Amino acid sequence: MAGASLSRFADNYGYTDYGVIEREYEATRLLYATESSHSIPRFRLKESEITSLGNIVSTRKRLYEALGVSSDGEAYEKLLDALANPKELRKVGDPGGYKKASRGLFSLPFAKFYEGDGGYYLTAAFIVACLDGVCNASIHRIMLLDEKRAAVRVVPRHLYTLYQRALASGRPLPVTIVLGVHPAVLVAVASSPRLGVFELEAASALMGGLEVFPSPVHGNPVPVGAGVVVEGFLTGERAREGPFADILLLYDKVREEPVLTVEEVLVSDEYAHVLLPGGMEHILLMGFPREAQIWQAVARVVPRVHKVRLTRGGGGWLNAIVSIDKTHDGDGKNAIMAAFAGHPSLKHVIVVDSDIDPDDPVMVEWAVATRFQADKDLVIVREARGSTLDPSGRDGFTAKMGIDATIPDKSKADIYRRARIPGE
Ligand code: MN
Repeated sequence: MAGASLSRFADNYGYTDYGVIEREYEATRLLYATESSHSIPRFRLKESEITSLGNIVSTRKRLYEALGVSSDGEAYEKLLDALANPKELRKVGDPGGYKKASRGLFSLPFAKFYEGDGGYYLTAAFIVACLDGVCNASIHRIMLLDEKRAAVRVVPRHLYTLYQRALASGRPLPVTIVLGVHPAVLVAVASSPRLGVFELEAASALMGGLEVFPSPVHGNPVPVGAGVVVEGFLTGERAREGPFADILLLYDKVREEPVLTVEEVLVSDEYAHVLLPGGMEHILLMGFPREAQIWQAVARVVPRVHKVRLTRGGGGWLNAIVSIDKTHDGDGKNAIMAAFAGHPSLKHVIVVDSDIDPDDPVMVEWAVATRFQADKDLVIVREARGSTLDPSGRDGFTAKMGIDATIPDKSKADIYRRARIPGE
């Protein structure tokens, strides 16, 4: 069972074994400590029935290796192309290799990550749902309630739409939870194409084909090689979900969220995946598809976009740095507006010239210090729609700020040039 398994990718790096670890905080400590190591941490959460991996794509280099690309531009173009031109799935029969977990959901790697978290969570699982010919796959945090029930945070997007449609016709929504897949599948599933574009078909385009088998109860498509498959229903019942430390490492509040009831929990000899909330892997998986959107939007208004970075400090979500080639004064401001259009949750953006590396915060600050005048080069937009993750926003409104730190007058470019040491 190779298919789109996690091992097909992770085997290339080798593993460091940590044995059996506690479900409370130990995965957090382990994953923080190993975020930039070459080998992949392998561990089993106490009393779970499947071995887990973490930090699969916790560096940008590894994310690009998972996508089979070697540069930013190639990475963004490949993802955008896959989302625009999804590819049909290759349907195969039951691949075998799954067994029923003996303790239901308790057999899965639910972990408690931070001291204020309201419970034990799966963080890298995605949910496949098909209703009336429309299929969707999306990542949701899932909080353990008991052996056969969990609370799922369903933000009002595509899964929520299908869920509401099912309830309106008097049925619960049949769902299949999948955990432990090749990271390229997760990148596609973390993206947000319009409803009707099935993220697994985008994964298929991204990977040059994706084999799926029908899930045993609902017949939903599941990538061959998945570590865990759970069949269940999203019911009309609600339960308290949260608090949960999310990507900004702020505690998301307690809400009444849909209850998942479980029909079957299946585990294989493949791996499960534990994703550290607020860690680099979380930031890259959520942020990278948004970087691609910003890159596409800014590329329409300036001759060349070099790098787009949703920064770690901004949780891979709220703050961006974009480096561009500028031909005319005013290009920097157009780039600012395009970046906000490309990623509506974006709050702050700094635009720099291509001699400034967005991955180097000191150079970015130097550009702001020497190329930026707040009375001319600052763009402020009041009361725009913002991210609900930002506690300083009000009722979904936020102020947005763009800093144009590109060289203001090209004819005087000489006075803005940074001194270099000869030979370095
Ligand atoms: Mn969708």
